Amino acid sequence: SMAAPVEKEIIFRSKLPDIEIPNHLPLHSYCFQNIAAVADRPCIIYGPTGRIYTYAEVALTARRVAAGLHNLGIRQGDVIMVLLPNSPEFVFSFLGASFRGAATTTANPFYTPAEIHKQAIAAGARLVVTQSCYVEKFKGLEGVKIVCTDSPAPEGCILFSELTSADETAVPPVDPQPDDVVALPFSSGTTGLPKGVMLTHRGLVTSVAQQVDGENPNLWFRSEDVVLCVLPLFHIYSLNSVLLCGLRAGSAILIMPKFEVVAMMDLVQRHRVTIAPFVPPIVLALVKSPMIDCYDLSSIRTIMSGAAPMGKELEDALKAKIPTATIGQGYGMTEAGPEPYTVKSGACGTVVRNAELKIVDPDSGDSLPRHSAGEICIRGAQIMKGYLNDPEATARTVDEEGWLHTGDVGLVDDDDEIFIVDRLKELIKYKGFQVAPAELEAMLVAHQEVADAAVVPMKDEAAGEIPVAFVVRFDGSSISEEERIHKVFFVKTIPKAPSGKILRKDLRAMLADGFAAT
Ligand code: AMP
Repeated sequence: SMAAPVEKEIIFRSKLPDIEIPNHLPLHSYCFQNIAAVADRPCIIYGPTGRIYTYAEVALTARRVAAGLHNLGIRQGDVIMVLLPNSPEFVFSFLGASFRGAATTTANPFYTPAEIHKQAIAAGARLVVTQSCYVEKFKGLEGVKIVCTDSPAPEGCILFSELTSADETAVPPVDPQPDDVVALPFSSGTTGLPKGVMLTHRGLVTSVAQQVDGENPNLWFRSEDVVLCVLPLFHIYSLNSVLLCGLRAGSAILIMPKFEVVAMMDLVQRHRVTIAPFVPPIVLALVKSPMIDCYDLSSIRTIMSGAAPMGKELEDALKAKIPTATIGQGYGMTEAGPEPYTVKSGACGTVVRNAELKIVDPDSGDSLPRHSAGEICIRGAQIMKGYLNDPEATARTVDEEGWLHTGDVGLVDDDDEIFIVDRLKELIKYKGFQVAPAELEAMLVAHQEVADAAVVPMKDEAAGEIPVAFVVRFDGSSISEEERIHKVFFVKTIPKAPSGKILRKDLRAMLADGFAAT
C-alpha cells in the first residue's frame, strides 16, 4: 500500500528576496564591518551630557574593555552581567565582552537583589558591570568581580576606567564561533520561570541583517540617521533593533538613560532625531503631554512601536501629533527576533527576509492559510540556540524541524502583514516588560496563609496589562493585599484542568466579563 501523501505546509515568507548574510562573522566584526566609511562620524551621543563618541572611538574602547576583561580573568565562553541604565558604558561592556569571546547577560536594574542573584547564578556570571548605587544588590554573591562605572567606587569594586585604559594590543587573539553565545537575556518564554535565552553570534548577525542589510524599501536605518535609544538596552528590543542595527548601519545612536517625556522631546529637537523606536506606554505619554506642541519633532521620519500591542486610537493620535513620521509596528520575542515593517494600522509586523513563518492550529498542528488565526511559529537562523541548561524547555519551544512556537495567536493577511489576536502563553506584558505569572504565584503560595494562587493579565490603558492575582486564603487568614501585585481578588478556588494546570483563559474571561468591577 502507498503511504498517504504528506500535506504541504503553508509557509509565509518575506516579499523581499533573501540576501547573503555574513553570519560566519562574530557580532562585533559584523557591526563594525563598514566602519571605515563612518570612523569619524558620531556613533554614540550621550543625551545628558551631549558627549559624542565617534565610531573609531567606540570600536577602540570596546577593544580596550575586552583587554581589561581579559586582565580580570574573563576568558572565551565566560559570561558577564551588565546591570546598568542606558549609557556608553553599557555599549562598551557588551561589545567588549563580544570582542573577548564572552557573553553578556542583561537585567533590569530595578530587580530585587534576590532576582538579580538568581539570574547571575543561573547565567554563571563571573563579573558584573554596574553603578555604585546598585552594588548593594550584589552583596553576598560569591566569587563575582564587580566593576563600577562611577567613582568613588564602593570598597572592593574595580573601576570601569581600569577596563577602558587596558592595552588593547595585549589580548591574545580570540575567535568566537558562529554558534557561541554572545547575549543571554532572560525570558519566561511560553511558560514558567525566567530562563537564559542563548543568542549566538550567528543568530544576532542574522537578525540585524534581516532588518537593515540589502535592498529594502522599508529600510529604517541609514548612516545619516540619528536613532533615539530611550528603550532600555537590557531588553532585546533595544539591544538588537536599536543599538546593533544602529551600529551596523553607521547611524548616530542618541542614548537616554531614563525615560522622561519632556527631556525626550527636548533631545529629539536638539539632535534632530530621525528614528524613534518606542513602546506603547511611551507613545501614550508623548501624545498626552501638554508640552508636545512646544517642541519641533518634525525631524522624525520613522516611529516604530513594539513589545506590546499599540491600538488604533493611539496610533491615530500619534499620527495627528507627528504627521511627518511614518509609523510602523514590530512584533518580536526575545527568543525569535523581530518581524518589523508593517504599514497597516493594527498590524504588528511582516515576515523578515531569510526566514519562514507559519500559523498553526494549536489542536491539530496543521498549518493554516491566510486570515485564519493560530499559533505563530517562526523558523530561521535568527532564533535562539535554546534555553541555557534547560533542554526540556527548549524542546517545548523549538520543535524538531526548527520551528519556534511563540505562544502568540495571530493571522497573516493578503499583504503578508501579521495581526496578533490572542496569547496562548502565560506571559504578562506590563509596559512592554515581561512579568512571569509563575514567579508571582510562587511568591504568593510561599505565604503561610495562602492556599492557592493564580496570576493573570488585566487590560490597563497606561500599562497595556497589569498583573492581578486570584488568591485562595486558608481559613482564618487576615491577609488583605500584596504590594507587588496591582490587585488581588480573594476566591474560593482556582479553576484548574484535571492535570492541575491553571485555566488562565477562564480567569481572563472572568475579568473581561467585568468580574473586577463587582
Ligand atoms: P519579549 O520576549 O519580552 O520581547 O516578549 C515577547 C512577547 O511580547 C511576544 O511573544 C508577544 O506576546 C508580545 N509582543 C511583542 N511585540 C508585540 C506587538 N507588536 N503586538 C502585540 N504583542 C507583542
